[in-house]
Amino acid sequence: QSDAAWDVEVPGAVRLADVGGLREVKDRLEAAFLAPLRNPELRRLYGKSLRGGLLLYGPPGCGKTFVARAVAGELGAGFLSVSVNDVLDMWIGNSERNMHQVFETARRQAPCVVFLDELDALGGKRSRVQSSGMRNTVNQLLTELDGVDAAANEGVFVLAATNAPWDVDLALRRPGRFDRTLLVLPPDAPAREAVLRYHLRERPIEKVDVAKLARLTDGFSGADLAHVCESAAETALLDSARTGTVRLIGMPDLLGAVRGIVPSTEPW
Ligand code: ATP
Repeated sequence: QSDAAWDVEVPGAVRLADVGGLREVKDRLEAAFLAPLRNPELRRLYGKSLRGGLLLYGPPGCGKTFVARAVAGELGAGFLSVSVNDVLDMWIGNSERNMHQVFETARRQAPCVVFLDELDALGGKRSRVQSSGMRNTVNQLLTELDGVDAAANEGVFVLAATNAPWDVDLALRRPGRFDRTLLVLPPDAPAREAVLRYHLRERPIEKVDVAKLARLTDGFSGADLAHVCESAAETALLDSARTGTVRLIGMPDLLGAVRGIVPSTEPW
């Protein structure tokens, strides 16, 4: 992995409004990043710094990556999504070098949102990397966050995520680092409705009762709901291909897809 290339996604079309539910998370991202960036005079007036990162935590598939990508979309910034497990390398020195390269890539392509997934991997549990190597990698990350000179980090925004916040190294949770946390919970019924609407918005549908689907999908994560829409689309596509006439996606397709999926979220 030491010569891994870290790919920055070009600014995308996803916006915070596309993220279903998560009202509080979106409000806090707005306050931490978006409002200060849109209003530089006010930022200076109030001495609001953009340094430090935000830690998103919660069960898998509920939108941590999606909301981070939406922040990049709002900022017109590139998006560099990296799993900490891909940064870690058993060879001495490589993990630190990888971590440095991630941030150098982001600085070169600023504005850029760096999204560090699986931040708990640096906590050292379940890892093949020696603890001294892990310590060095945490220190490297701290150096990158603090910025040797802060000006170099201009336009670099850092978000991290974990499913296991209790395993995140405490050094990373100190003020100025990942001191602010945002809980990303599975969607409730209104949020599920919004998520379903988003994933159906560009698909040909007919007589779909989205509110009803939302009621029937208790326990489904955002990823599960995206999968429901995908799989209903697949059914309708297959039918259309067989018959040679385009059939719109209807309730039977979606209800069939709901029945075919075991909801992935557990009590959190
Ligand atoms: P993991 O912990 O496994 O990395 P995650 O919380 O980062 O999971 P995402 O990758 O953001 O989950 O979600 C997977 C997919 O599910 C997204 O690409 C998106 O299509 C859909 N999705 C999840 N949550 C939402 C949401 N709130 N609104 C719209 N779509 C969502």
